[in-house]
Amino acid sequence: DYKDGGYHPVHVGETFNKRYRVLKKLGFGAFSTVWFCHDMAHNKFVAIKIQKSGESYYSAAEDEIEILDVIADKIQTEEWKESIQEYDLPNNINSAQCLHMMDNFTFEGPHGKHIGMVFEVMGYNLLKVMKLYDWEGIPLPIARKIARQTLIGLDYLHRLCNVIHTDIKPENAILSPTEKQLTDHLDSVPEHFKSSIKGPIQSSMFFSKEQNKINKRKKKKNKKKASTKKNEENKEDDEKILDEDVQVKLCDFGNGCWIDHHFTSTIQTRQYRSPEVILGGEYDETCDLWSYACMVFELITGDYLFDPKTGEDYGKEEDHIAFIIELIGHPDLKWLKECKRYRKYFTTRGKMKRIFKHKIWKLEQVFKEKYCFKDEEAEQLADFLMQALQWKNEDRCSAQEMLKHPWLSMPSDYDYQIERSDEEEDKNSGDDEEEDDNDSWATY
Ligand code: ATP
Ligand code: MG
Ligand code: MG
Repeated sequence: DYKDGGYHPVHVGETFNKRYRVLKKLGFGAFSTVWFCHDMAHNKFVAIKIQKSGESYYSAAEDEIEILDVIADKIQTEEWKESIQEYDLPNNINSAQCLHMMDNFTFEGPHGKHIGMVFEVMGYNLLKVMKLYDWEGIPLPIARKIARQTLIGLDYLHRLCNVIHTDIKPENAILSPTEKQLTDHLDSVPEHFKSSIKGPIQSSMFFSKEQNKINKRKKKKNKKKASTKKNEENKEDDEKILDEDVQVKLCDFGNGCWIDHHFTSTIQTRQYRSPEVILGGEYDETCDLWSYACMVFELITGDYLFDPKTGEDYGKEEDHIAFIIELIGHPDLKWLKECKRYRKYFTTRGKMKRIFKHKIWKLEQVFKEKYCFKDEEAEQLADFLMQALQWKNEDRCSAQEMLKHPWLSMPSDYDYQIERSDEEEDKNSGDDEEEDDNDSWATY
């Protein structure tokens, strides 16, 4: 892929836009490579996504930047400030649980013209987190916290930005980095580049001033917790990662579109694809909530909610639709007939053409019978997810409505309360400014 129209051959030590020095590769996707860089202008560390140069990649990056610009802008609106209060988020979290672009630039390489997008450095995505738990599901209190934060991200995208993500799945939700990940990055900085980094290299250089304040409070809080739990210190960093007050952000807006302007009808990754998209109906922002419900189920159980397979005489789409019927019942005929491709799989009476037997197994029963959940947990969780798992867009709740569901409300608020009482403490003791004094980023 390192050819005309493809990836830019990035070299460690090269400088982008006269200010970002490349230090290490962080990851890659179908569209881009992602690099750990030193921002020499602000003496900070950042992650830069370098898009392939081909025309379609270039214009996709332009669309992505347009969306990222709106994501950055709407944080300052009064409407969102009210939501911050309502959701009881610390005032200084200015990301709205969406990865925040700080800068972008274009440059000419040997394979064409590329776009670079500059982000904060993040850690594991949720796929990696599930792997840490051996694909057996992550503990409920943590899953609940992640579910709440990602839903806040969706509410922000839909209600404030008018954006549909269209590719909600575990890979596209990413955690803030752990101390160990930051240390590893720093250790990997080649010796001969260290001279151009001002002052001692420290983890505060990964974060904005605001975020550094939050981190300091978290550390204090964790110390308090650790002193009550003896074994805490001995835990591996990977295990500890989710005990911390972790932040989750939605990322990869490369497939995003506007609620009132779609770019394509083929959206979403298979297992997270909503029924109207499979059947060729009209989609709206609630298609993200369908994917979201599939993702939350997977986080908790370690299994896909729908994992369709091709059968001897039917295709994956049909298998998928049959699975949906088994979970939520048959679609209504009038709605079905509004979907362009319904005749491929259904008779005009709304019966499936090639899959006849459906073993109905409601979500609540699945949680009780397959995953042995306690009755109340199973009922509440199923009730929460079923707000999104509806055939018709108009029958699904909005992200804002789903955020009111009692299943979400128990433990996560607790941490913010501690954070706020620490904030009070900090105000009184006035020791907030000891690190990171000459940080020149306004927001980052
Ligand atoms: P896709 O093929 O999924 O469309 P893409 O080319 O659009 O990928 P991203 O998904 O945005 O690229 O990023 C590719 C990978 O790089 C991610 O899966 C993640 O592992 C890593 N990555 C992206 N952004 C960051 C970041 N800010 N900090 C750390 N790692 C990151
Ligand atoms: Mg991706
Ligand atoms: Mg992408």
